[in-house]
Amino acid sequence: MFANLVEFPAWLLGIGLVMLVLPGASAAWVDGRALKKDASVLILGGGVAGVIAARTLHEQGITNFTIVEAKSELGGRLASTTFGANGKEFTAELGANWVQGTQTGDGPANPIWSLAQKYGLKTHQNDWLGSIVTYNATGPDDYLDVLNESVDAYTNLTIAAGARVDKGLVDGTARTGYSLLGAKSRTPQVMASEYYLFDTLFGQTPEESSWIASSWAYNFTYNTDVGGFADDNQMSIDPRGFKHIIQAEAAEFLQPHQLRTNSTVKTIKHSDSGVSVVLVSGEVLHADYVLCTFSLGVLQNDDVVFEPALPDWKEEAIQSMTMATYTKIFLQFEEKFWFNTEVGLYADPERGRYPLWQSLDHENFLPGSGIVFVTTTGDYSLRVESLSDEQVQEEVLGVLAAMFPNTTIPAPVAFYFPRWNADPLFRGSFPNWPSSFFSEHHENLRANVGERLWFAGDATSQKYFGYLHGAYFEGVDVATDMAKCIKAGGCVGMKHVQKVTNARPCQV
Ligand SMILES: Cc1cc2nc3c(=O)[nH]c(=O)nc-3n(C[C@H](O)[C@H](O)[C@H](O)COP(=O)(O)OP(=O)(O)OC[C@H]3O[C@@H](n4cnc5c(N)ncnc54)[C@H](O)[C@@H]3O)c2cc1C
Repeated sequence: MFANLVEFPAWLLGIGLVMLVLPGASAAWVDGRALKKDASVLILGGGVAGVIAARTLHEQGITNFTIVEAKSELGGRLASTTFGANGKEFTAELGANWVQGTQTGDGPANPIWSLAQKYGLKTHQNDWLGSIVTYNATGPDDYLDVLNESVDAYTNLTIAAGARVDKGLVDGTARTGYSLLGAKSRTPQVMASEYYLFDTLFGQTPEESSWIASSWAYNFTYNTDVGGFADDNQMSIDPRGFKHIIQAEAAEFLQPHQLRTNSTVKTIKHSDSGVSVVLVSGEVLHADYVLCTFSLGVLQNDDVVFEPALPDWKEEAIQSMTMATYTKIFLQFEEKFWFNTEVGLYADPERGRYPLWQSLDHENFLPGSGIVFVTTTGDYSLRVESLSDEQVQEEVLGVLAAMFPNTTIPAPVAFYFPRWNADPLFRGSFPNWPSSFFSEHHENLRANVGERLWFAGDATSQKYFGYLHGAYFEGVDVATDMAKCIKAGGCVGMKHVQKVTNARPCQV
């Protein structure tokens, strides 16, 4: 048991691994040839879904698996870095930062919250609507009344979505929903407020998002009336990083020979009799089954090649969901000069232009850190990623100058932002559900291809897509189905739909 150690064993952090033939490994059949088998199951990807799938197989008595991970450590999009000037460094969460929806009384618990408690993760609740000040392009501008109206508009949007489901009405975009409900104003203040309520949750605009799915994704996480966990958000401020919870959980059951880090997958060959996984290094791993937990963005972008190519029903599902991008841009200054609340909301005439500012230099988080971060999403994030660091820094300093017209904005002592979309291991931040994505598409996204090739991750979660807890539940559920299949000596697996069709044909 390593769970209580602050330092993890070198093998768990992926240093100097050279193994792979497992005890009990025998032969896998690929293309009619018997090959030496490296594991019964190769779990591709060591994020939340991969680690929890491995734990689930372990609990089911299937221990002949290997996690294959490109990075040097487990965690995936639970990714932290050391940020700050020399002598003033702090842990910054580049990816997931919040346990979203925790637990209400003894109701259902978000499993990420349970892990956070199990490993004593240092967190603090965020008061996103209570500790906020508002700005526009000329400086401070109190439009909290507009923000409150946006809160109501969002609530109405989710209620109306539920009513549409009950009546069997078609989906539409969240923008259609807002407009039908009368939320039409496009002032900078309204756009910033709506952005804050909507885009920061889904990583995309209401135009790009399903009205119904965005509502259930919110409700199943936050609304206790429909089985959600709780209406709160706990921010990780743990110096070990949020990733500590998944690394510590892995240390409870994972053996050194069950993990390969620094191993990037290039090709996944699958057949009815087995699988072969080709690494960028040229090494080939053979197994009976493969569980692919790569992000939707990786699957969409052909960073990994499937041989034979995935069937049309699978490829259509993959290309029909969206990988949204959410970017946190970190700045550290010698001295704090901004708001004392947790959040500063900035209303630019252009929707989505550096709107959300969150202070880490706050008594609840990292006091004295001098750190503030600004968030962008969607197309604006892609634009930001295409610019140089210097250009982005200049733009955000310009926004700070607009927000604080009476302050001379100093140069930051540290500046950093991750480019999630450009990263070939992620190709975005989290999946979003567009209105043209049918439930059948989602079943197909989740379904195994043949007996041997399985998929899990935050995108395959219908209720909690885009969340850590979605990845967690999928790790449990898909690995449980796989275990049944393995123990039965084969199976059909999950159902899929060969062709997703309209209930009534389109008429012209
Ligand atoms: C900026 C940002 C903010 C977020 N905020 C939150 C939040 O506050 N709360 C929340 O609940 N969720 C949040 N999320 C979403 C959450 O991080 C994800 O839902 C979750 O981490 C997904 O886990 P996963 O195991 O499905 O995928 P991943 O974490 O992506 O795991 C897949 C693994 O596969 C590896 N991999 C990819 N390609 C290859 C290859 N070719 N070969 C080998 N390995 C490969 C990757 O390195 C990765 O480790 C956020 C995500 C981002 C990026």
